[in-house]
Amino acid sequence: MVSLSPLWSTPIQYAKGVGPRRARLLAKLGIVTIEDAFWFVPWRYDDRLEVLPIQNLLPGMKVTIRGTIEYCRMRTTSRRRLVVVTIAVRDETGVIDCIFFNQPYLEQTFAEGVTVLLTGTVSHNPKGLSQNLLKGPEYEILDKAGSPLDGPGGRIVAVYHETHGLSSKQLRRIIQSIFEHYAQHLQEILPGRMRERFGLPTLSEALPILHSPNPSQSVVLLNQHVTPEHQRLAFEELLLLQMALAMKRHRQVTAAPGIAFSQPDTMEKRLKAILPFSLTSAQERVIREIFHDMGQPTCMNRLLQGDVGCGKTIVALHAMVLACGAGYQSALMAPTEVLSEQHYLSLKPIYDALNISCVLLKGGQAAGERAATLVALQSGDTQVVVGTHALLQPDVHFAKLGLVIVDEQHKFGVLQRAILRDKAPWQPDVLVMTATPIPRTLAMTWYGDLDVSVIDEFPPGKKPIQTKLYEEKNRSRVHQLLRKELEAGRQAYVVYPLVEPSEKVDLQAAIEAAEQFREQFAPFRVGLLHGRLSSRDKQLVMAQFQQQQIDLLVATTVVEVGLDVHNATVMLIEHAERFGLAQLHQLRGRVGRGLHQGHCFLIHSLGRIPVFNEQMTLRVERPKDARHPNERGAPSAMTSRSTAKRRLAVFAQLNDGFALAEEDLHIRGPGQVLGVQQWGEIAFRVADLARDVDLLSKARQVAREVLQDDPTLSFPEHLALKDTLMRKWGEKLNLGSIG
Ligand code: ADP
Ligand code: MG
Repeated sequence: MVSLSPLWSTPIQYAKGVGPRRARLLAKLGIVTIEDAFWFVPWRYDDRLEVLPIQNLLPGMKVTIRGTIEYCRMRTTSRRRLVVVTIAVRDETGVIDCIFFNQPYLEQTFAEGVTVLLTGTVSHNPKGLSQNLLKGPEYEILDKAGSPLDGPGGRIVAVYHETHGLSSKQLRRIIQSIFEHYAQHLQEILPGRMRERFGLPTLSEALPILHSPNPSQSVVLLNQHVTPEHQRLAFEELLLLQMALAMKRHRQVTAAPGIAFSQPDTMEKRLKAILPFSLTSAQERVIREIFHDMGQPTCMNRLLQGDVGCGKTIVALHAMVLACGAGYQSALMAPTEVLSEQHYLSLKPIYDALNISCVLLKGGQAAGERAATLVALQSGDTQVVVGTHALLQPDVHFAKLGLVIVDEQHKFGVLQRAILRDKAPWQPDVLVMTATPIPRTLAMTWYGDLDVSVIDEFPPGKKPIQTKLYEEKNRSRVHQLLRKELEAGRQAYVVYPLVEPSEKVDLQAAIEAAEQFREQFAPFRVGLLHGRLSSRDKQLVMAQFQQQQIDLLVATTVVEVGLDVHNATVMLIEHAERFGLAQLHQLRGRVGRGLHQGHCFLIHSLGRIPVFNEQMTLRVERPKDARHPNERGAPSAMTSRSTAKRRLAVFAQLNDGFALAEEDLHIRGPGQVLGVQQWGEIAFRVADLARDVDLLSKARQVAREVLQDDPTLSFPEHLALKDTLMRKWGEKLNLGSIG
């Protein structure tokens, strides 16, 4: 059978033996085209390599045997009307009965003389021909002439994600048949030189091994998805995205003119004179990196990563002041009102001292106030605007926008970044800041079009925060410690989770807790902060906490980002098991920002949690269910008890945000770390960002090399690569046409 259209555009429905009904089921697994079927690699492999002689079997053993069907019979039991198919299987050493219930079609499958591989648990056979019995074993028919199923001995059996109505075994058969009909149409897109360099097989060599491994393969490596064959597929995926990103970056930098900010150092000097501290060397370094970019005539696209409290705001300030000195406006966008207000309040005095006009723009402002702000921006009377998403609205216009800074970037999508940028006729420079450390691999993919600066140093005097886990029954011990800190004049946060499905209950818990603290901790002043408060009330409470008119702040997760109160030393987190690692880390970052030792107490209901050690394996924690991830609902890994235990154990042990982020990636997978929606834009079929770190670096390097030599990808050996690249990423990344 010859297919004229390429595999990626041939619907699976037209493959032999599939049809519309199965095609619908396959679509649930993400298999829409014939190409998808080839790339649907097994999630697991069963080792059925060791074949035992039938005479050695004993009841209770889990075994694989291989033999020829001697006879096959079907009957219906008189009492329960079960259909029973019985076969007798013989090898050189003996014979064994096997029975299968309610699968009448098996009578056709198990013809006499057919060779089968059976896997199951041996039981005693009271009245059969043989002493032993296999009840409902897994079976494979072995002797289709010439098929890869043929050959001596046992097998490694591919196990696929299933969906209701489509078993792994059926999938095996469908995919096998697709191999028979379409394998010759597989297209190789990796140039030979590239494959040789990394020792990768061709696609046509790799796929058969992944779908029906031969017995010489290592089951262990297969199951870890790290065979050269797996790597071949993963590399292709990673390379394509890295090339697309490199291309996009190249476009952005060259497409529209950027601004070369001139760098008179008077402003910077004045700024330095105002700041009450000197910069850390990490801050100095990243400011130089940013200034370098800003001085170029092409536009800046830089990611600034740095743990909570490392001092990113000051760095942003330097960039804004530079833009201002060159006569351009800056916009600083933060994801929440709390955070944007905080930025505004902390920056405003500095701008005032520098004679730079700075305004705040957020939702819910009075119409008059908002209109005045908009006019000031459009006329150029104001040089800096700090705000939320409100900045993205169409009626916000700038006189001369030169610099866009986006804080907590991962909360915004790539598109939002683009909207702000489009508010200028030229390409403003863009600086993206994130306090949520992102694992290197994720940063290289999600932010692949950005250059990265890292602040890896804290302002002097910052002591690591002490983190302790407590079971709920020991709450009174925690309260004692809390009281001690309050008595010493410090302030504290008590944070309750607030998760949508149980929002009401959660809110109630926080409100009641605030009441209890008021009673038990009198005369300390207790405040309550949650999302249902009006933004005025929120502001009031936060201002009171900031000014030490509140000692203990009970809050739902609104304090997650932003609040900067140096006198706060305790972060007490209730129901800690319900928080993710990134969130916990953010919360912990709220304390220990001043001179005093910070404490983070986590109260949980998980029972005893062992001390974390590096040997605790990670991947076993990933959800093991056999269903395809497409079908999985809520983040099951988050709710599993053992995962939660591990998460807290790790959190208590590690202070470094980047290490935690790596851990988070291993536990939850990229989809949850990045946000399922965002991940959906770049999800891979084989590559795994938690595992394929080295492969990703290689792909990134190769992508840049290839584009350097052949920017339009018009060398003959790059044509297939270019086709696939444009097909997969052209539209998503708005690459237009090349070459
Ligand atoms: P981030 O946004 O990275 O979490 P911030 O910019 O809010 O951190 O800085 C945290 C705190 O550290 C702020 O109170 C800030 O004033 C202070 N800070 C920043 N840089 C320094 C420095 N070089 N020396 C002393 N304190 C600093
Ligand atoms: Mg910050």
